[in-house]
Amino acid sequence: MQTIGHYIDGQRVAGTGARTKDVFNPNTGAVQAKVSMATPAELDAAVKSAEAAQIKWAATNPQRRSRILFDYKALVEANMDALAAMLSSEHGKVLADSRGDVIRGVDVIEFACGVPHGQKGEHTYGAGPQIDVYSMRKPLGVVGCITPFNFPAMIPMWMFGMAIATGNACILKPSEKDPSVPMRLAELFVEAGGPPGLLQCINGDKEIVDAICDHPIIQAVSFVGSSDIAQYVYARATANGKRSQCMGGAKNHGIIMPDANMDQAVKDILGAAYGSAGERCMALPVVVPVGEGTAERFLEKMLPAIEAMKVGVSEDPDADYGPVVSEVHRDSIADNVTKAVKEGATLLVDGRDFKLQGYEDGFFIGPSLLDNVTADMETYHDEIFGPVLQIVRADNFEDALKLPSAHQYGNGVAIFTQNGRVAREFADRVEVGMVGINVPIPVPVAYHSFGGWKRSAFGDANQYGMEGLRFYTKVKTVTQRWPAPEEQSSDSAFVIPTF
Ligand code: NAD
Repeated sequence: MQTIGHYIDGQRVAGTGARTKDVFNPNTGAVQAKVSMATPAELDAAVKSAEAAQIKWAATNPQRRSRILFDYKALVEANMDALAAMLSSEHGKVLADSRGDVIRGVDVIEFACGVPHGQKGEHTYGAGPQIDVYSMRKPLGVVGCITPFNFPAMIPMWMFGMAIATGNACILKPSEKDPSVPMRLAELFVEAGGPPGLLQCINGDKEIVDAICDHPIIQAVSFVGSSDIAQYVYARATANGKRSQCMGGAKNHGIIMPDANMDQAVKDILGAAYGSAGERCMALPVVVPVGEGTAERFLEKMLPAIEAMKVGVSEDPDADYGPVVSEVHRDSIADNVTKAVKEGATLLVDGRDFKLQGYEDGFFIGPSLLDNVTADMETYHDEIFGPVLQIVRADNFEDALKLPSAHQYGNGVAIFTQNGRVAREFADRVEVGMVGINVPIPVPVAYHSFGGWKRSAFGDANQYGMEGLRFYTKVKTVTQRWPAPEEQSSDSAFVIPTF
């Protein structure tokens, strides 16, 4: 069986660490590879050669760096089908969704090609007598990027696309559950003409995450994953003086106002709740029908829509969603459904015992729908991260607004309404970082930026867009004066200069 090592200095290398972990095919439940867990010594060697590569890269003029990123974008697109198949076989999402995962990452590479424009800095001519002031955005050096299992193409590209475009080297530490796509993305960078050593892919788990947070050469840590670990990584990296942005978990709400176009809202919520088996940080696992009769009208259309949904293997073009990532995760989703019932929720659709014929060992779970969920239930408070939709009924707009605002997570939220004034007020007042108005998954496009509030993000810089550019650069400001000989001052100034 293949053991996946690391991608260092432009080559796939075997790991030297004693520990490996299993990589499953969630469709069959079979172990299809092993992945090596890097040691701190392997990380140290990779960081040192990344440091050398970064010095040359930072000295390469910006348009030459961009040309490599243009070629990289084209090469990733040319490899789209192979990447999507690889992604589905380790993650379990359906092929069309895997393509979307790659495409949303490529969008950031496309934005990153224009980074020279954003990195130009500022200039003031004549800020004082013969004095000009200019600033520049310098790269940080070597940065660490730690990513989750659920978007193994998009999230690495969010991070290394912006890090490399701004002149940094990147140590990418992907999820040990689906490492093959990040490894291939690193390899394609070198095939596109990127310097070996600039993008190193190191596989591992907590041991190597800790080593990244502690490494003295690594200047910044970008992390996406669950909230407790995001908070831990943020604390550890910042305690070591590193810049850090750590995105965490989510529990996004879809508010249905009484005037919503119900056919459209049901279609949108169905895809957002159950797509990718609910394993998206921007999924909509909570729906809030507002006012009398709205929940009944929603259920009238939602129940048959769930009935018509198809759960299947990733390669099945008719499947709406595939298996979840692991057996442990499938059991945790089922346990949460059981717990919700114990807490008093009404189970309208029960997906716990679903088996896919011919794939009985695969990590499949059917869709569940829970009604009469209330804000005091633990299963409402917690992220389930599976194909489970919870209905929390609200009497009016104010009560509905309070739910996402008071929730521990504040990643995304959506409102379905035909009333622009209500939508506008909701967007203004809700305590959540990304808002959709009749848009169920409001992941901002690459030239805006991505980031939640509260326990969905630690640190104050969003991912990608201009926020990403700022995260991966530091400002240097130069104040210069070129006086003519007759303008040289003859006295020392003992007070701070004022102009
Ligand atoms: P995870 O937190 O288990 O793992 C994320 C990364 O942390 C992985 O690289 C993993 O190897 C590492 N890690 C795991 N345990 C660790 C530990 N004890 N100490 C240090 N590092 C550790 O998350 P996951 O299960 O891979 O991904 C799903 C989670 O990510 C969900 O909570 C989801 O909401 C969240 N997510 C958030 C966003 C966002 O932008 N807010 C996007 C995607 C996913």
